[in-house]
Amino acid sequence: MIVKAQRHNVIYVFIVFSVIFLSPWLIGFRYQQYTGEKKDMMLIRLVVGPLQVNCFILADEKTKEAVIIDPGDDAQEILKIIKDKGLRVKYIVNTHGHFDHIGANSALKDATGAELLIHEGDASMMASAPMQSRAFGMNTPSSPVADRYVKHGDMIKAGEIFLKVLHTPGHSLGGISLLEQGMVFTGDALFAGSIGRTDLPGGDLMALLRSIKTNLMTLPDDTKVFCGHGPASTIGEERKENPFLNRQSGFE
Ligand SMILES: [Zn+2]
Ligand SMILES: [Zn+2]
Repeated sequence: MIVKAQRHNVIYVFIVFSVIFLSPWLIGFRYQQYTGEKKDMMLIRLVVGPLQVNCFILADEKTKEAVIIDPGDDAQEILKIIKDKGLRVKYIVNTHGHFDHIGANSALKDATGAELLIHEGDASMMASAPMQSRAFGMNTPSSPVADRYVKHGDMIKAGEIFLKVLHTPGHSLGGISLLEQGMVFTGDALFAGSIGRTDLPGGDLMALLRSIKTNLMTLPDDTKVFCGHGPASTIGEERKENPFLNRQSGFE
C-alpha cells in the first residue's frame, strides 16, 4: 500500500514538474514578443489556428495604437493580448484572402471596431473563405467586407507605425507585403527557405517570382522577414539560401 502511494507521488511530482517546465516553452512557441527596430514599437507574433498562421500585432507603445496582421484564428487569445497591453486596434490587415489568414476578422472587428483592410484582388477570395475552408475539412467563419481596399504604395498608419503596402501577387491575385523600417511582413509570398504555393486559384509562379524580385529582393539584406507561416528570416539570408531565389536557381 505504502509503495503504491509513493509511486503515485512520483508520477504526480513528474506531471507537475513537466507542466511547470514545459509550459513556458509551449507558450513561447505560440507567443513571441520581438524588440522592434523602431524605438517604442511593440511587435508580437502569435501562431494561430490549425494551419499555424503567424498573426502579428504591431503597436506604438506611446499612443497604444495597433495594427493586427492576419488574424487567422484564436480571436480570444489575440483579444487577451490586446487587453493586457491596453492597445487600441486601428486596423486589421489581411496579407491575402485565404481562409487560414482571415478566420478571426469578424470577432476582432466586432470587439475592437477596427477598420478591415485588404487588396481588392483578394476581396472575392476572402468572401469565399468559409467555402475554401470546408474543402480542407475546416469551418472558418465568414469575414465582414473590407472597409477599404489598399493598393501598392499606400501607407497604413497607427501612431508612429507606418506600414507601406507592397503588392506581391503570385500566391494569390491580391497578395500584399507590408514594409516597416527594417522589417517586412510577407504573408504567403516568401517564407524562410521557400516561397508560397501557386497551385491554388489566382496562383501564378512567374508572377510570384516577379513580385519577390521587384518588391522584396530590392530591400536591404538586413531587412527582417516575417512570414505568414514558420520562422522569421532576413532578405540577405533568403538571397543566399532560398533555393527558389539564390544564384543556383537562375533567379537574377
Ligand atoms: Zn495563403
Ligand atoms: Zn497561409
